[in-house]
Amino acid sequence: MAGARREPIVIGGVSVAPGEHRTVDVPVSPLYTHDGLSISVQVIHGSQPGPVVFICAAIHGDEINGVEIIRRLLKHRSLKTVRGTLLAIPIVNVYGFLNHSRYLPDGRDLNRSFPGSDAGSLAARVANTFLQEIVLKSDYGIDLHTGARHRANFPQIRADLDMEGARGMTEAFGVPLALDSKIRDGSLREAAGDAGIPVILYEAGEALRFEEMYIRAGVSGIVNVLRHLGVLRRSRRKYPLRPPIVSGQSSWLRAPESGILSTLVPLGAKVVAGQTIGVVADPLGSRESPLEATHDGVVIGRTNLPLVYEGDAVFHIARYGRRTDLVERHVEEFQEHYESQEP
Ligand SMILES: [Zn+2]
Repeated sequence: MAGARREPIVIGGVSVAPGEHRTVDVPVSPLYTHDGLSISVQVIHGSQPGPVVFICAAIHGDEINGVEIIRRLLKHRSLKTVRGTLLAIPIVNVYGFLNHSRYLPDGRDLNRSFPGSDAGSLAARVANTFLQEIVLKSDYGIDLHTGARHRANFPQIRADLDMEGARGMTEAFGVPLALDSKIRDGSLREAAGDAGIPVILYEAGEALRFEEMYIRAGVSGIVNVLRHLGVLRRSRRKYPLRPPIVSGQSSWLRAPESGILSTLVPLGAKVVAGQTIGVVADPLGSRESPLEATHDGVVIGRTNLPLVYEGDAVFHIARYGRRTDLVERHVEEFQEHYESQEP
């Protein structure tokens, strides 16, 4: 393919020539103030052939950690030489982002509205525009998420590992944990998968917060995947990049009663069956109920709100069976690496 001339790529009606870096605004339904609104896409169309990869964040408008990951990624020096094409979309759900909301103004979840249609609800139209203009023009995708409001996730990849291409990206990313997840629920990942385009999710941190360590791990992880796909030049690897340990099963431990919650273990902690990992207390000090792990595992998600109703989800625990101790070691190494790294 050496010397082969690439075609321009057309996004939102704008033609971007090989070798060109350009911001393209893809129009979506305007605001009712009469102001226009668009999804901004940074198009890096390399002059050398290679795959088209999209990286997007804030499909849930309040999940802003990924917005910062993409901002830093776009300043990364290795992006000067791109083989193939990078489509970076820091804010997909621009309406929710403006309102600090997960949802669209019509109350719908954009990530349950794919594939959408051009004649449907607001959510369906935005989903359809994003699918047509970005996803279906790509060969691979990385979708950045965080936990919901007041809920934090330990950095993890979620993907359908049986899908061709998804496993390689998951293994290249360089975080210690992954969930093999085949949920088909109107998500972007489902719509892309139906078109044969593998998409992995990086889940890290909490809605409406920046988490420095998880941002660094996200930027590095995307660069690692782009190297794996041949979009960026390979380099010497410093941090031990080994495949994540995959859990096929996870569940939420729920508050046994309503009250004030004290959590006793952090994200990433190993827990064993029967261990007290939280306490729910009566605000008057008359009662305390322990929250005990029901099985061995690793805490991959946690509420940060110390006020709970009976039945509220408190700890998200993934099972790793005999590999639990190994996961613990990898998590510790990962944390040491990213805590010590310069921003
Ligand atoms: Zn999300």
